[in-house]
Amino acid sequence: MAKPIEIYRLLLKRFGFLNWWPGETSFEVLVGAILTQQTSWKNVEKAIASLKKEQCLSLECLASINIKSLEKLIRPSGYYKQKARRLKDICSSIKDEYGSIDKLFSLDAQALRKKLLSYKGIGNETADSIVLYAANKPIFVIDAYTKRIMRRINKMPIDISYDSLQEYFEKNVKRDLELYKDMHAQFVELGKSYCKTIPLCDNCPANNICAYYESARSAKQARHA
Ligand code: SF4
Repeated sequence: MAKPIEIYRLLLKRFGFLNWWPGETSFEVLVGAILTQQTSWKNVEKAIASLKKEQCLSLECLASINIKSLEKLIRPSGYYKQKARRLKDICSSIKDEYGSIDKLFSLDAQALRKKLLSYKGIGNETADSIVLYAANKPIFVIDAYTKRIMRRINKMPIDISYDSLQEYFEKNVKRDLELYKDMHAQFVELGKSYCKTIPLCDNCPANNICAYYESARSAKQARHA
């Protein structure tokens, strides 16, 4: 079974340091993490650009803006009615309870995660992305790419839960902010570039430690024997 750090080293060698997540401020990262649900990052960038243009990329503005105006501004991000409602409600709750994003982010990682999960529209992956990339606290983010890659490389169970896989990474990878950030980014890059639904194994940087690739290669050899 390949250790996560071994996989990471192979990916880092191929992709280089990825320097995630784009965003000029912690608040921008939080907004991006909410808007990126079920859409591409390109669409999120357009929505964020509109919010910036209208000088509304702030907790105060998003908590008080008229909902129709917000829908219009974030329309490029898709599901804009639902996202506008959620974004406004989340910002209002943060403003009422904490007064500022810095105060919210002063909670420790687990308390912050729990608080974020209490907001409608924030699930595990979004909460952990905010804790890691916006609040700069080391927590391991799991996403669909990471699940698929670990299922293939290390034969992890198909139905492994978010929490179990997160616990696996956190037990096996030194708790380090920059390492956790870049490791998640590398897994996403591998999932997008090679470990797709139909994997492109022959040029994959992790193929020499991948159980799926090894099985496929052995089966091919057996067929040609
Ligand atoms: S070798 Fe294939 S299955 Fe294994 S990680 Fe790479 S692309 Fe995915």
